[in-house]
Amino acid sequence: MTSEAWREKYLIFGAPDLGREEYEEVVACLDSRWMGTGPRTARLERDFRDYIGAAATVALNSCTAALQLSLQVLGIPPGSEVITSTMTFCATANAIIHAGSVPVLVDCERDSMNIDIAAVERAITPRTRAIVPVHFAGRPCDMKALMALAKKHDLFVVEDCAHAIESTIDGQHCGTFGDVGCFSFYATKNMTTVEGGMVTCRSQELADRVAILGLHGMSKDARKRYSDDGFVHYDVAQPGYKCNMTDLAASLGIHQLARVEKNLQRRQQLWDYYLRELADLPLILPAPPAPGTRHALHLFTCLVDDSRTSVTRDQLLRKLHLLKIGCGVHYRAVHVLDYYRRTYPHAGPFPHADFISERTFSIPLSPAVTDEDAADVVRALRLSLA
Ligand SMILES: *Cc1c(COP(=O)(O)O)cnc(C)c1O
Repeated sequence: MTSEAWREKYLIFGAPDLGREEYEEVVACLDSRWMGTGPRTARLERDFRDYIGAAATVALNSCTAALQLSLQVLGIPPGSEVITSTMTFCATANAIIHAGSVPVLVDCERDSMNIDIAAVERAITPRTRAIVPVHFAGRPCDMKALMALAKKHDLFVVEDCAHAIESTIDGQHCGTFGDVGCFSFYATKNMTTVEGGMVTCRSQELADRVAILGLHGMSKDARKRYSDDGFVHYDVAQPGYKCNMTDLAASLGIHQLARVEKNLQRRQQLWDYYLRELADLPLILPAPPAPGTRHALHLFTCLVDDSRTSVTRDQLLRKLHLLKIGCGVHYRAVHVLDYYRRTYPHAGPFPHADFISERTFSIPLSPAVTDEDAADVVRALRLSLA
């Protein structure tokens, strides 16, 4: 089946698009000898704030840190319950635990793969303090309904925007509906700083608290202690963490952000191509975006339709790997992972997340994917599902 004409290079899932600007900025940053948190990080914070239309931003070294610090600065008492979708990356639930709360997992919707808001409502108890919706694959959650529910029950909302940099609802960016939005700049995300993240906050005051907790708990003014104004002693009001972004990382981010809309257009072309070319295969393809929303097109997730093929998802992944097509699985639901299964054996049921979890796989969608690459993905799927 692997004819001689088959591709030579492995198609890496989620390969980033890197331009000359990134290379030059990284070198300029090194030449400046200011590699840690400094002017380039500050610029990325400003650029990102303006792009999202947020009140305030803080750059961090990951979205995982963003989630944990956000929950902590909101002042949620230890042992509180925080509701999130089981159809997410483990980091969402892990961060809730590290923030001192109990993750309460709820099912997702079958088509949107986003958190089921009726299930959220059923999961609310007197101990619930926050909801962490995940804009899955870049498809916005129904924030109007979710914020109404949060308001009714006086709950904080921390949006997991790891997939959702470009996502909007009626023109308003995801990450500005709740109290906080948490974005990821991990290597495979819609923009990257290799590792990195950003918090968007509803107030500068909240952002300051995130910045302080993310840098040793040092008082804010003291964080400028090596500035041109001379040495300033710092004070520590609480034991903080070490989650600041470096200027070396921000060097990439500044130019990644500048191309984020152009890259979305490229992914839209690939998205439309895949929808067209895969329509007749035994796959359940992504649902069309909801009216008034913009999907960030982070993941093209397909479900193997086992009513139409005997090839299982894992068999398919093995075949695609042999055909040099790198795929991802987003996700095996959190509740099936060992720790969560052991710790919360009575959680559930999660019929939709289970359905997705067993069948889902994501095909390469990064702007680095060429037309030829995309044609190879389609050919490989045809061969593998035959
Ligand atoms: C990638 C991801 C995270 C974690 O992001 P990091 O920047 O790698 O910490 C959190 N939530 C979701 C849904 C993600 O996809």
